Amino acid sequence: MKAIRVERLGPPDVMQLQDVPVPQPGPGEVRLRVEAVGINFADALAVAGEYLTRTRLPYTPGMEFAGIVDALGEGVQGVQPGQRVAALGGSGALAHYATVNAAGLIPVPQTLSAAQAAAFPVSYFTAYHGLKTLGRGQAGEWVLVQAAAGALGTASVQLAKALGLQVIALASTEEKLEIARRLGADVTLLQDDPERVQKVREAAGGKGVPLILEVVGGKRFQESLDMAAHRGRVIVIGNASREQAGLRPVELMKRNLTVTGLWLTSLMSDRDATAEAAQVLGQLVASGQVVPQVGPTYALADSARAFQDLLDRKTTGKVIIEP
Ligand code: NDP
Repeated sequence: MKAIRVERLGPPDVMQLQDVPVPQPGPGEVRLRVEAVGINFADALAVAGEYLTRTRLPYTPGMEFAGIVDALGEGVQGVQPGQRVAALGGSGALAHYATVNAAGLIPVPQTLSAAQAAAFPVSYFTAYHGLKTLGRGQAGEWVLVQAAAGALGTASVQLAKALGLQVIALASTEEKLEIARRLGADVTLLQDDPERVQKVREAAGGKGVPLILEVVGGKRFQESLDMAAHRGRVIVIGNASREQAGLRPVELMKRNLTVTGLWLTSLMSDRDATAEAAQVLGQLVASGQVVPQVGPTYALADSARAFQDLLDRKTTGKVIIEP
């Protein structure tokens, strides 16, 4: 079969299409025939060697995908060959076949296309944990969503609206803001608007925003603190700027701010939080209240271009690669 292989860390063009053996599922694992792979910012950071965990070489990228159950490893129960599932694993999905621990299988309504199923796990679980598990967002409250037309951004806007919050969306272009509005954002602002801090504070009733999903980092992190309301919660989810941010703890004291880090990988092992998110998200997807936003779709051989477009801010929704 064909698979993308990475033998040295670097920009996306270190990824190469190679012939490799079809993987065999080990005990507790399931093999899927991969239909669609969701590409996350984290995948590009891992190829560059800039992710939260060390990238072990050589490897095949791809942590989030949808496919048809093809073979079961020893001891796997409750999974039917032929069934379409979404899956969340560590790596290996950019290939015709991939194995994943059965615990990483995520049931999805059969009404979703393969691309929609692949766009679902990372963005929607992260959005839920940001808005509810860690963010404790309440219906009627304002939330600020950065990069609102991206994969996590579109998930966050839709989910926030479905949960009854009011959304201020930031993005870099008018086209991206239009996507956020179409998904229900109440207020949209260009992220480089020179008066953005003041305008965001005013939009949220003049007092600043109680809940902020922070994904850009660098100098924008300070802006998020400036946009936050007294006792505001800033959930640190990403660092798309790839720049360091400073934090002056005294500033948090003065305005009783809370800054909370969120990493989906470690939250997935919290069974209660995962079960709650799965229940709420499952209902909202099944009822069509949230619809995973599929972005541009690329062939396996074009994986490097897909990763580069994501890094260059050219994409909206979830970037999909179809092997
Ligand atoms: P997106 O589809 O949102 O793409 C990234 C977007 O980030 C761009 O389109 C761009 O939107 C915005 N951005 C802002 N500044 C920059 C910059 N300097 N360079 C590049 N992009 C920039 O990707 P994802 O949904 O995969 O991820 C969004 C963020 O959330 C990332 O930081 C990612 O690491 C994080 N994340 C974290 C998770 C966790 O568990 N902690 C899980 C999922 C995502 P615009 O042009 O509108 O500014």
